[in-house]
Amino acid sequence: MSKSPDLMRCGYVAIVGRPNVGKSTLMNHLIGQKISITSDKPQTTRHRILGIKTTEQAQYVYVDTPGVHTGTKKHINRMMNKAAISALADVDVIGFVVEAGLWTAEDLIVLEKIKSATAPVILLINKIDKLADKTSLLPFIETVQSLAEFKEIMPVSALKGNNLPQLESLLSSMFPESAPIFPVDDVTDKSMRFLATEIIREKLMRKLGQELPYSVAVEMEEYKTTPRITNISACIWVERSSQKGIVIGKQGQKLKEIGTDARLDIEKLIGSKVNLKLWVKVKEGWSENERILRSLGLDEQ
Ligand code: GDP
Ligand code: MG
Repeated sequence: MSKSPDLMRCGYVAIVGRPNVGKSTLMNHLIGQKISITSDKPQTTRHRILGIKTTEQAQYVYVDTPGVHTGTKKHINRMMNKAAISALADVDVIGFVVEAGLWTAEDLIVLEKIKSATAPVILLINKIDKLADKTSLLPFIETVQSLAEFKEIMPVSALKGNNLPQLESLLSSMFPESAPIFPVDDVTDKSMRFLATEIIREKLMRKLGQELPYSVAVEMEEYKTTPRITNISACIWVERSSQKGIVIGKQGQKLKEIGTDARLDIEKLIGSKVNLKLWVKVKEGWSENERILRSLGLDEQ
């Protein structure tokens, strides 16, 4: 019997790992678009976000997750852990991302969570571009290999793209056959409005370095598209008035830079001119307050 032409290889891939190993960078490179924001700060990704890529033969649905981390005292951390762990259910493949040469206690915690999931696990050893001596990978692989059973072990560079085509063919060979899960033109499950909010948060994290309180949030107040321009205004919430000064900077310079960087990225993403207005407001203790978290869409799943 001949195969139905509509059938292709389709599957969900959970990308999991401790914070900062490069999960969001990996998803963006695989999708070929900036869907998930990245920075060198551990809590950059706060939401579960889907990145979708459709080719002639396959549809890849990547699930980027906030890294599982150990601080569970703050409510925001607990919510992020919940999002990371629930992403493991109902996927076809789990991509466990670690950093070449750097195995930590946090990696072990993630591995323990993965072991209770049913999907096969591919160990992705990322950031191999940083290794001066590639032979140093071998003892690292041996150590990690002894801790669990992996379907496959692949050294990759999410940043440079090393081994990503090989990863894609491996993944599609593990997918079941089905009709596409999402419309073939979709690249994500999130709205442009949501992605724009995230881009603003990324610029905050990148521009403010260590000064940035990680309890900063961005709330979209207006997002209106006209044929000529998209008008966006967003509020940046901080916890203390001293933090407000940090975000705004001398004579408003910092906020201006954040706004320009964000506007350029949003214009690229949505393919239209953007008029972006940013405000900074103080709300004490927001990261502990579940209601505010929800109103900011932090539990959006
Ligand atoms: P996540 O927290 O796991 O999502 O990590 P991110 O994707 O936000 O990346 C954390 C940091 O690692 C960022 O500064 C990335 O640019 C960097 N990074 C990610 N992948 C690679 C890689 O393959 N090579 C190098 N050199 N850096 C990477
Ligand atoms: Mg991330």
